[in-house]
Amino acid sequence: MSIAENLLKIKSALPEHVSLVAVSKTKSAEDILQAYSSGQRVFGENRVQEMVEKHEILPGDIEWHMIGHVQRNKVKYMAPFVSLIHGVDSLRLLKEINKQGQIYGRKLACLLQVHIAEESSKFGFDEEELQTLASSAELEKLEYVKVLGLMGMATFTSDMEQVRREFKGLKTLFNKLQNSIPELKILSMGMSGDYKIAIEEGSNMVRIGSSIFGARN
Ligand SMILES: *Cc1c(COP(=O)(O)O)cnc(C)c1O
Repeated sequence: MSIAENLLKIKSALPEHVSLVAVSKTKSAEDILQAYSSGQRVFGENRVQEMVEKHEILPGDIEWHMIGHVQRNKVKYMAPFVSLIHGVDSLRLLKEINKQGQIYGRKLACLLQVHIAEESSKFGFDEEELQTLASSAELEKLEYVKVLGLMGMATFTSDMEQVRREFKGLKTLFNKLQNSIPELKILSMGMSGDYKIAIEEGSNMVRIGSSIFGARN
């Protein structure tokens, strides 16, 4: 099936309250334009440099989401245009995002990445760190940062009950944190292999790459 067909099939099956980030990392500008022509405007990349290059040559109404791990020294390159940063995993990174937001006069929207996987390789806050951050005055001091939600990645496993448990845990944490951060409204969880489970467990933003664009090299 073509990119356009994949995209339309997935979109037509998503509930209305779930938004789709088309994950275009490693894919060409031509591939992205095919999805764009079928109406997709939100694209996700996991490397700042690649996102900057694509932003420069592709239509200006694309909303670029940074979904990967962000190094602090790269924030300045995306600060002028990025529309949502999913992978914020430390207060130091938030402070740098705030600094760059101030320089460019933009309040930058962020999601806090939560470590939900049992694997040790995934980045993110754990529950205790998040509770501490949420109840501290630090977040409010960051005038050029908007924390809009949470993001998580489940363990890469064929055990779908484990994946479901991890998503359920993140949703529970999301609900709890809404008490201290009322602006939290986005719960970014679910990729090609697990987005249906993620939606059943309360996701309202899914990040789908290979099911739209085909396998990556
Ligand atoms: C690559 C990536 C995705 C998309 O993965 P697929 O399995 O191709 O859908 C989603 N989220 C993050 C953080 C990624 O790095």
